[in-house]
Amino acid sequence: MTDTLPPATPRRKPKPASTRIAGRNLSPATQMMGFGYDPMLSEGSLKPPIFLTSTFAFENAAAGKRHFEGITGKRPGGADGLVYSRFNGPNQEILEDRLAIWDEAEDALVFSSGMSAIATLFLAHVGQNDVIVHSAPLYAATETMVAKILARYGVEYCDFPAEASPAEIADVLAAAKALAAKKGGRVAMLYLESPANPTNALVDVEACRAAIDVGFAIDERPPIAIDNTFLGPLWSRPLHHGADIVLYSLTKYAGGHSDLVAGGVLGAKRWIDPIRSMRNIIGTICDPNTAWMLLRSLETLELRMSRAGENALRVCTFLRDHPKVAGIGYLGFLPDGAQKDIFERHCTGAGSTFSLFIKGGEAEAFRFLDALKIAKLAVSLGGTETLASAPAAMTHLSVPDERKARLGITDNLVRISIGIEDADDLIADFAQALDMV
Ligand SMILES: *Cc1c(COP(=O)(O)O)cnc(C)c1O
Repeated sequence: MTDTLPPATPRRKPKPASTRIAGRNLSPATQMMGFGYDPMLSEGSLKPPIFLTSTFAFENAAAGKRHFEGITGKRPGGADGLVYSRFNGPNQEILEDRLAIWDEAEDALVFSSGMSAIATLFLAHVGQNDVIVHSAPLYAATETMVAKILARYGVEYCDFPAEASPAEIADVLAAAKALAAKKGGRVAMLYLESPANPTNALVDVEACRAAIDVGFAIDERPPIAIDNTFLGPLWSRPLHHGADIVLYSLTKYAGGHSDLVAGGVLGAKRWIDPIRSMRNIIGTICDPNTAWMLLRSLETLELRMSRAGENALRVCTFLRDHPKVAGIGYLGFLPDGAQKDIFERHCTGAGSTFSLFIKGGEAEAFRFLDALKIAKLAVSLGGTETLASAPAAMTHLSVPDERKARLGITDNLVRISIGIEDADDLIADFAQALDMV
């Protein structure tokens, strides 16, 4: 009987307006202003209202049943109506539709933080006694999630350095397959982070794709998930290079104003549907206010990231030849070699987050940081303002010395995220701070 019901009216989500005009495919920057929202469904309000409600009224009992069939997975493709704010909401759905545009993803989900997105991904796709293969290093909390929390459920991991060659990646996958067979589990996921923090080492996603396709039968291929927080969605589109799932800390460039915490997961429905079901159970969806703020942020994403990228090139060009600088880890200055080859195949920009090595040690790095006047001394990245920090003494303080040395996290390393200020002002600030060293 439910099949004969007309669709719920009025449509809360308008059919996407055509993304082509006069033969042109509209660019994501254009679509960020209106895609997926019809003002006429909300009193003409040009911007979407913030829907502060915990639950949604059904038009009748049969519609309620139909919506729950979508929520529980009895009917494929997710709910076609709004049900309860732990599952979905208008602000979050508009945000998911717009976020998917950048990566040309089939489906997208938003979360209360980057880490809740990552945790929900693992809970959805990793089972007891499975093996995770990952590039190293990972964001510290992600490493803890894999090595300490999933380990409680018998999950083990195999890792390879971010800059591993295609042959090394294939070898680690083969070893993981053997380990999984011995444990009675599967290789559940190939999890990547590129560029790695704070080394900026790039992972060859195309080589990972090839290794999975050659090493695993079609029905046992694990998904390739990649944390694209540092370069996405403007400068890197890993779904185009063979990744199955893309993850974001939307707290960084996507939010872009250092005023919210959120996460995103994007990819084909096949991989996203189980993650949505897990999110429905544990409630890791972002709240409507944060979703609204992110919609505003996405309108300026390309402007902000482009300006930050241009600023970073100018600042790095100044810093590279400064007598008090020992080196600089910026993707725009890669020497010829495997890393530059990956950069040219995978990236359309060098980003605005880089590593600066001050001549000296911790004392010199601290003097530089304390002397900065425009750049703020804080962790995080991707905001409108320039930030600087010392990973060895801050974000990576708890990493054992031996591992720090292997990753090149030295005491004189300063991590910088360039914002959208005037580039000459930033150069003047870095120049006077270096004078104080
Ligand atoms: C910040 C960050 C995260 C975690 O995101 P939160 O929004 O802080 O939970 C994950 N990965 C990378 C690369 C990050 O920079």
